[in-house]
Amino acid sequence: MDFTDGNALAGPLREIFAVDMTAATSRCAACGHAGPVATLRVYAHAPGLVARCPGCEEVVLRLVRAPDSAWLDLRGAASLRIPL
Ligand SMILES: [Zn+2]
Repeated sequence: MDFTDGNALAGPLREIFAVDMTAATSRCAACGHAGPVATLRVYAHAPGLVARCPGCEEVVLRLVRAPDSAWLDLRGAASLRIPL
């Protein structure tokens, strides 16, 4: 298991969102586990960043950064509750 916690997403997501997304609560679409984005398991050796659910290991979030754009795949998240 070669991953870091979701705090590794803080900088890359800060480029996209105006708030700290590691404090947001994600709900896994596969198992329903809900918890802070900071507790996701982040694999940085895939193309881009892959964040997996600590409950079932399914992919919750993918983020790929290109020089002029970012690709954010949230299909594994049933919802994101973002504190404002
Ligand atoms: Zn899950």
